[in-house]
Amino acid sequence: MTTTVSDISREKSAELFEKAKQYFPGGVNSPVRAFKSVYGTPLFIERGDKARLWDADGNEFIDYCCSWGPLILGHNNEEIREAVQNQLGKGLSFGAPTALENDLAELILKNNSKIEKIRFVSSGTEAVMSAIRLARGYTKRDKIVKFEGCYHGHSDSLLVKAGSGLVTFGETSSAGVPKAFADETIVIALNDKEALEQVFKDFKDQIAAVIIEGVPANNGLLIQDKDYIQFLREITKQNGSLLIFDEVITGFRLGFEGASKYYDIQPDILTYGKIIGGGMPVGAYGASRELMSCISPDGAVYQAGTLAGNPVAMAAGIAALSILAKEGFYEKLEQTTGAFVDELRSFIAERNYQIKIFTIGSIFWFAFTDQEKIQRADQIDPASMEFYKKMHRELLNRGIYFGPSGYEVGFISAAHTQEDLTHTLLMIKESIDVVYQ
Ligand SMILES: *Cc1c(COP(=O)(O)O)cnc(C)c1O
Repeated sequence: MTTTVSDISREKSAELFEKAKQYFPGGVNSPVRAFKSVYGTPLFIERGDKARLWDADGNEFIDYCCSWGPLILGHNNEEIREAVQNQLGKGLSFGAPTALENDLAELILKNNSKIEKIRFVSSGTEAVMSAIRLARGYTKRDKIVKFEGCYHGHSDSLLVKAGSGLVTFGETSSAGVPKAFADETIVIALNDKEALEQVFKDFKDQIAAVIIEGVPANNGLLIQDKDYIQFLREITKQNGSLLIFDEVITGFRLGFEGASKYYDIQPDILTYGKIIGGGMPVGAYGASRELMSCISPDGAVYQAGTLAGNPVAMAAGIAALSILAKEGFYEKLEQTTGAFVDELRSFIAERNYQIKIFTIGSIFWFAFTDQEKIQRADQIDPASMEFYKKMHRELLNRGIYFGPSGYEVGFISAAHTQEDLTHTLLMIKESIDVVYQ
């Protein structure tokens, strides 16, 4: 039995989008926002509060995109808002050190044994770009190995068969990246020990670093086996290459020590973003004291930022991370997510639908497949995205906001109440029934 509902009004959003198209390429300031992979005009958001979003047409949604990950505490969190408001009266930027930078660094380093020193930047892209430079500067080698299906931001060296938006658009790399840059980046498949062994044979003593997402979550959720990640740690060490763990999504999502703790490994350089700024633009990279001493002004690897360590952003980060550091925060969120996913899995099993839900921490991903595991990008069938596209429309019509691409994961925040989740489960079940009817 299915319940049909009518399409939500997108009149105002459509008007705004027409205007935006005159100003911005594709009408947006980040490609995936253009809703190219789902139905209809992108929704222009007016405000958010806790787990909810309101668009320009007055439609209300329970949000599972959460600004693509940063909002682990939901929208308009009171403590973060107050910290930001308190800072606003003191000025927006000084281009000089502030105590706030110390406070955020202390909070992070005290709760994260994987890094000894940190440098704040303004985005995840910048964090990863800087980490790559550090690895090259330290090892005096040029080549980087990355994995098909991992996204590390849009710096030149890493826009080589990158995931997320690019896969959605059916491209494998970006125009404008010099071939000479791409030549320094080797792309191999995830979850393939032989490919790793081969690459270290083929490029002996040339590989500065291997970079991997803590848990690949930008092109589906490709949860890697523990023994594979530990093998990756070993083989990089044996070959004098650094291991960069890009924890821009997983950092502060799977606890303060992120996926490094989950896999029980010590990467050489870690990158952060998203949650770290409490919703403000902050990124960071960290490593041992020795490695970080290579960074300017201590060392020869140059990296700087006019707005790096911005006081308002630091205040937001401190407020957010102070809440996350409280005993039991992550356990509770993971339990909530586990129960949510379990309920959906039972429903799917009952109905015999070909859907798998993969999950780790408070991240979940719907895969329209009957495969038990998906650990490599090429195991995702692009044709299956048609199901997601249909489900996405049904969900929006029922007041549930998921990311506008089937390659994107969903997030549960601490602001999602039991009531929100129970209602969402009902709406998801209805939507799936409609997709398969
Ligand atoms: C989002 C993301 C980035 C890029 O961060 P931006 O802040 O968008 O530049 C890099 N790496 C990973 C793993 C990400 O999820």
